[in-house]
Amino acid sequence: MLRTGQDYLASLRDGRRIYIGGELITDVTTHPAFRRAARTVAGLFDLAFDPATRDTIVVTEGNETYRAYLLKARSREDLERRLNAHRLISQKTHGLFGRSPDHVASFVTGMAMNPEAFKTGDKPYDRHLLDYYARLKRDDLYVCYAIIPPQGARTSGPSQVASNNLTVTAETHAGVILNGVKMLATGAVFANEVWVGNIFPLKPDQAKASITCTVPINAPGLSLWSRTSYERDAKSEFDSPLAYRFDETDSLVIFEDVFVPWENVFTYNDIERSRAIYHETPAHTYGNHQSNVRFWSRLQLILGIASKIAKANAAHDNPVVRAILGDLAAHEAALSGIIYGQIQNREILADGYVCFNRRHMYAALDFCTRNYWDISNTVRELLGGGMFQMPADSSVMDDPALAGLFERYLQTSQQDAVSRMKLFKLAWDLLGTEFASRHFQYEKFYAGAPFVIKGHNDRECPWHDFEAIVDGILDSYPNPAGVSMNPALALAQ
Ligand SMILES: Cc1cc2nc3c(=O)[nH]c(=O)nc-3n(C[C@H](O)[C@H](O)[C@H](O)COP(=O)(O)OP(=O)(O)OC[C@H]3O[C@@H](n4cnc5c(N)ncnc54)[C@H](O)[C@@H]3O)c2cc1C
Repeated sequence: MLRTGQDYLASLRDGRRIYIGGELITDVTTHPAFRRAARTVAGLFDLAFDPATRDTIVVTEGNETYRAYLLKARSREDLERRLNAHRLISQKTHGLFGRSPDHVASFVTGMAMNPEAFKTGDKPYDRHLLDYYARLKRDDLYVCYAIIPPQGARTSGPSQVASNNLTVTAETHAGVILNGVKMLATGAVFANEVWVGNIFPLKPDQAKASITCTVPINAPGLSLWSRTSYERDAKSEFDSPLAYRFDETDSLVIFEDVFVPWENVFTYNDIERSRAIYHETPAHTYGNHQSNVRFWSRLQLILGIASKIAKANAAHDNPVVRAILGDLAAHEAALSGIIYGQIQNREILADGYVCFNRRHMYAALDFCTRNYWDISNTVRELLGGGMFQMPADSSVMDDPALAGLFERYLQTSQQDAVSRMKLFKLAWDLLGTEFASRHFQYEKFYAGAPFVIKGHNDRECPWHDFEAIVDGILDSYPNPAGVSMNPALALAQ
């Protein structure tokens, strides 16, 4: 059943254990580190109850009503429905929530389109996955994921130190016991469950780590170690308007004797399967299409800021500045083209399903990873030193004498002082603060390190077709007479 924002917030008061440094937090809905972002997520749940957005976010099939990001697409229109739902969510969060509830749910939806990929071992893992997908639809859950081992734990071999990588340490007739850690669950403090898995290859002796399962965030023995909270550090909404309510958080997930029943296990004791489920199903494409759309919303915000900053600094009509803005505009248009191209060039799958074009999706991932820093840096150049001309914070306006000076000396012929400071504070929160810096790292790594994304693009490229173009030219004219060719030295096909 679709949950309201209030229902969702109530579900977070479940005894979960979150540490920020040495402080234990059990209620994210009231704690100053998390409470406003929790309400931002609640607002996403409420989209299903607002007549203006309901049709975009909700799908009705017979008696079943569920979120559009759980739709298994069978047509172009279905893919458009998915895109529009991601777009609505990312516009509400300005692309600052990478792991909004539609991200991992899209992975699970893609997996449910090819449950055959889960068939392995002596357990009905394919049935477990389909039941889980049905549960996501029925219970309207928010799931995050932690699908890579912690840094330094990816190799095996003789060591004085026991591996901290998450591993099954015991099996019973009812389920498995997990111990170890997984990095890095974005959004976990706001999620109902964490999907645990392995998207990178494991070593042959790591079969016990090849577990894919889902675990409630309040499971006994599970704790989250959150990085610092930018929401808590925000002095006021005026001073840090984005960190104030859009800090999605990132956490290390620690498992100490956590019990997982078999029905929540999707792969185990099969290193190859634990990774294949992401690529032999539409999961990786459905999930990362969301990432593309989410980035697009962020990019549109950046362009809006660039244009307004140029106006605020009276540089808007300068031809050099117009060329910079034109360059930014080209980036935004290119990304939107790659996103819509994923639908235009959709892939037709078995059983009547359709998927976004995966090559276009990976190209967009590469575009985003590669360009985020340069785009942001360009806009920082437009900012100049304006940010540091501003008072340290908005408390200057609490003192009538200082407020008068502020209004008099910080205004320009384009803008009054308060509006100018408000705009620069917003720009700096997106491009300059520690909150902004976390996003630089996020955009570089959320789908794997840059070389991993290039690997996806390489893997999916039809190199043979491109080589055939070259062969067509080479074969169209003769070799010099009298020279023999050695077939044993032909390039590999
Ligand atoms: C803000 C943020 C949020 C995240 N959210 C999530 C999440 O929600 N869920 C989740 O599961 N994960 C998440 N991640 C983790 C993310 O998946 C990893 O950061 C990413 O896979 C890269 O792994 P790593 O950080 O261990 O970097 P490493 O693998 O250690 O790579 C670091 C650098 O080392 C070099 N390097 C390492 N290996 C090689 C190699 N074989 N060849 C060439 N160069 C190499 C490269 O320069 C690379 O950039 C998040 C990460 C960040 C930063």
